[in-house]
Amino acid sequence: MAPDALTTLAQRYATVQSDVAAAAAEAGRDPSSITTIVVTKFHPAALVRELAAIGAHDVGENRHQEAAAKAAETADLGLRWHFIGQLQSNKAAAVLDYASVIHSVDRASLVDALARAERDVDVFLQLNLTDDPNRGGVAPQQLESLAERVLGIPRLRLRGLMAVAPVQSSARAAFACVREQSAELQRLAPEASALSMGMSGDFREAILEGATHLRIGSAITGNRQAPG
Ligand SMILES: *Cc1c(COP(=O)(O)O)cnc(C)c1O
Repeated sequence: MAPDALTTLAQRYATVQSDVAAAAAEAGRDPSSITTIVVTKFHPAALVRELAAIGAHDVGENRHQEAAAKAAETADLGLRWHFIGQLQSNKAAAVLDYASVIHSVDRASLVDALARAERDVDVFLQLNLTDDPNRGGVAPQQLESLAERVLGIPRLRLRGLMAVAPVQSSARAAFACVREQSAELQRLAPEASALSMGMSGDFREAILEGATHLRIGSAITGNRQAPG
């Protein structure tokens, strides 16, 4: 039998919460400084509803169409939606209809599209930790100019950096690199100290390197179906 069949969503959520608390203790950090965003991609709106019932109110999605449908179906729950996937500029306005935080801002054209927002938006700049420009994220060399562009737009609140650890290398080393880039960013934008990093397989390492926003999917939701 698959392990998921033996545990409930509430049990997995509780296990992740205690693992987060343990890693925070190991790092000498207050666990309340860490937000767990539950990534609900490929799961139905019913799961989002179940999550809300057990106290999980920050949810993340990486595809606009799927996210928009789920957000509409659960609009009564007052959840905070985080958009964490690659975002086309021509979808930016539509995403802002439900998402209040965008974790994947990685280029000037997207900043300009978000600038037309009619409400305040929290923004993370996604850092590309690989040499592959197709991976999404801004190269470290371009981070400062992108940050300046965001800072020039009053409705966009620059929160910090987001990254996905590359599969080939040590997650801990990758997250340490993000922390160093964050220190650079904070010289320009002292408020932009948040770090969106850490997924099901590497959130302990992320917490040890200062993560403030974890994006956790399968460890909480169970195995998801591959996209059809
Ligand atoms: C799917 C996804 C996650 C969560 O991944 P898990 O390994 O299921 O925890 C986190 N961040 C991004 C950008 C994702 O697309």
